[in-house]
Amino acid sequence: MEERYNSFAGWCRRTYGRHLYRIALDAGMTCPNRDGTLDSRGCAFCAGGSGDFAVSYTGAKLSHEDLKVSGAKGKEGDYIAYFQSYSNTYAEPERLRALYTAALCDPLFAGLSIATRPDCFSEEIYDLLAELKNTYKEKFIWIELGLQSANEESAVRMRRGYPLSVYENCMSRLHALQIPVITHMIIGLPQEDISDYLNTIHYLNETGISGIKIHLLHFLRGTDFGREYEEGHIRELSMEEYVQAVALCLAHLDPDTVIHRLTGDGSGEILLGPRWSRNKKQVLNAIRHEMKMKGYVQGCLYEQK
Ligand code: SF4
Repeated sequence: MEERYNSFAGWCRRTYGRHLYRIALDAGMTCPNRDGTLDSRGCAFCAGGSGDFAVSYTGAKLSHEDLKVSGAKGKEGDYIAYFQSYSNTYAEPERLRALYTAALCDPLFAGLSIATRPDCFSEEIYDLLAELKNTYKEKFIWIELGLQSANEESAVRMRRGYPLSVYENCMSRLHALQIPVITHMIIGLPQEDISDYLNTIHYLNETGISGIKIHLLHFLRGTDFGREYEEGHIRELSMEEYVQAVALCLAHLDPDTVIHRLTGDGSGEILLGPRWSRNKKQVLNAIRHEMKMKGYVQGCLYEQK
């Protein structure tokens, strides 16, 4: 480990001999928390599920302009088709087949990373993933699941819309297919503290993940949490609190888990707070410094059950 944690950059170099860059794709999806199936208001923290730099994707080759917008820095084969916006298994299997196949056949991409919810899978979709994994053996398929917290009360508070049992079922199906899962968690949710964050980390260790994205809770304009924040009902974390929480979470995390992200994106104009989160470099440096000061490396407090 060249860093104090198992960074995505280091893991890519060891595994593929080069860095891989995500190109965030918006394939025109929606999600059950937005289309009225479960709710129409979305999760309480979500401003729309679309990344700032996601490029529209229909399965056609991306243009030079698209690559520029995505901030792409690599060459052909250095990219991950990151199906980012909304829930990217929430569509008819034939539509998904066309999108995934187009990306898998494109020499631009080394593989796919599909962001979705664990309640957006069907037998046909598991079968499709198994078939594509088998057909395109030289490419990879990863799934990203937005669990956010292992606390069931927090799930209700954030209006996530599914219980842990759904996540666990999905995980066991994806494990059976040997599809790596990257799970997202949020630090700073209302009514959560360090014991909740560590509880989520222990839960993720037990359910088995390949990678993790740790996000700071951003308060965004147009969201329920953003409104509660503006009304003074929820407070933001200080940078110091966030940094200490992340460092301790990493100390308890399985050392084999790959760290794909340790901060959230600032979300541009709609970010109400915390303003300090705009300086990602400063946050990352502070996390590394905190780990060094405490003598932490990833997994140093991990206890295998
Ligand atoms: S976070 Fe995901 S599941 Fe929740 S409303 Fe946004 S897009 Fe939908």
